[in-house]
Amino acid sequence: MKYQRSLCWIRRDLRLKDHVALSEACRLSHEVVVVFVFDTTLLDKLKDKKDRRVTFIHQSLRELDEKIHKKGSALVVLHGDPKKEIPRLAREIKAEAVFTNRDYEPAAKQRDQAVQTVCGSSGIAFHDFKDQVIFEGDELLTKSGTPFKVFTPYKKTWLTALNPAHRHNHSPKLNRLLSAKHLKDYSRDWSLKKLGFESAKLWLTAGESGAATRLKKFKPHLNQYEKTRDFPALPLGTSGLSVHLRFGTVSIRSLVRLAQDIPGTGAQTWLSELIWRDFYQMILDRFPHVTTGCFKPEYDAIQWPGSNKHFKAWCAGLTGFPLIDAAMRHFQQTGWMHNRLRMIVASFLTKDLLVSWRKGERWFADHLLDFDFAANNGGWQWCASTGCDAQPYFRVFNPVTQSKKFDPEGQFIREQLPELAGFPNKRIHWPQEATEEEQEQAGCIVGKDYPKPLVVHSRQRIQAIELFKQK
Ligand SMILES: Cc1cc2nc3c(=O)[nH]c(=O)nc-3n(C[C@H](O)[C@H](O)[C@H](O)COP(=O)(O)OP(=O)(O)OC[C@H]3O[C@@H](n4cnc5c(N)ncnc54)[C@H](O)[C@@H]3O)c2cc1C
Repeated sequence: MKYQRSLCWIRRDLRLKDHVALSEACRLSHEVVVVFVFDTTLLDKLKDKKDRRVTFIHQSLRELDEKIHKKGSALVVLHGDPKKEIPRLAREIKAEAVFTNRDYEPAAKQRDQAVQTVCGSSGIAFHDFKDQVIFEGDELLTKSGTPFKVFTPYKKTWLTALNPAHRHNHSPKLNRLLSAKHLKDYSRDWSLKKLGFESAKLWLTAGESGAATRLKKFKPHLNQYEKTRDFPALPLGTSGLSVHLRFGTVSIRSLVRLAQDIPGTGAQTWLSELIWRDFYQMILDRFPHVTTGCFKPEYDAIQWPGSNKHFKAWCAGLTGFPLIDAAMRHFQQTGWMHNRLRMIVASFLTKDLLVSWRKGERWFADHLLDFDFAANNGGWQWCASTGCDAQPYFRVFNPVTQSKKFDPEGQFIREQLPELAGFPNKRIHWPQEATEEEQEQAGCIVGKDYPKPLVVHSRQRIQAIELFKQK
């Protein structure tokens, strides 16, 4: 045994199962203390005191705390700047080492470096581990030794390189957790109120148990994924696990094991999506300039002519394009959006309203419950055609055609926009085309009960292509 006592600092890995840092801390230490810090440098920036993510984290920690109590220990929850709190706690409890799982966001890397330096100056070791991805950083490289910029060859290499060690289940020995009686000084009030927040309503159950229930429900549908994944009206067409993956209430390895153990193209297609997740984490890690600009820097020069008025209408779901408005209003209510809809609304904002992808990226970052810098930035740059391996700029989604294809019965639109529910299927995607009589029959007058379209798609499409051509 290397250490008498260690700290395991959890961040976006709020679980006890299959946890690399915790498993290593328990393997190498006699006594382990699990700690989470509500980071004031991040929380103080949140304007909405009913932030759904804070509620999700809080509920997940409550569950974790209960589980840890059952093992005779206690979860330590602190509120402050982790750069100060972690070294201070380590010194106070006489921990000889800090164990944690790596985070690839530039700001998180800086934070961890600072914690490591301060710990080091007090003789406290700092160990970090790969946990939230299967392959990180430079583990997969092209034949010329550079990071991949194109997904398909990356995926091929990913699949070839995958071996049992990458899928290993890192099960921590929880009998190493330090007895609660030594942690009495740390049993503080960490209610949401104390943290300055209020509870938000969530559409899903938080915590490891929430992830397990969701996965159990989705599993029988996995073999159909390839056929169902593009239809937002289908409740289990996709897994709905992104929030759990974001906060680590489920491990990526457990999902890869599942995808590989289930035969068929449904599971293979789903595995590809998990690989996209690794891909974007790698892009953020290797090309951190994406945090402040386009992956392809030449597109930073584009002057997006779209207006703030149009941006606000997009945010509010008042564009006059039914599927866009349905997606954005559902987003407002839940903080979640189906992947097909994320693609359509992002394309619409950039290529129809000609508003910079940075504004959309920010709006999503502020409101997505599953907000993940790497996936969000990658997704926006893909849709805006400024990213690596992105949608070519001349291929512009037609929002009405997309609506007819992926919500053919208008079910999703009807659920989100009750004012349009009276229109028959042939009109629901584009009610502006309905005659006055049809509008009266449907109980919805366009321009009065539902907005007229903000723009003419065919014209905007040409303008969008021109913006790129000029670069
Ligand atoms: C503009 C835009 C913004 C996005 N922002 C985010 C974000 O902030 N956080 C986030 O987790 N995903 C983001 N995505 C990717 C994707 O939309 C979501 O991961 C997906 O909708 C989550 O639903 P699900 O869990 O049912 O996915 P499933 O279809 O069940 O896929 C399983 C998992 O694979 C991963 N995944 C799936 N698609 C992608 C993808 N294109 N890129 C990276 N990972 C993927 C997710 O972790 C997901 O939970 C974004 C996509 C776009 C186009």
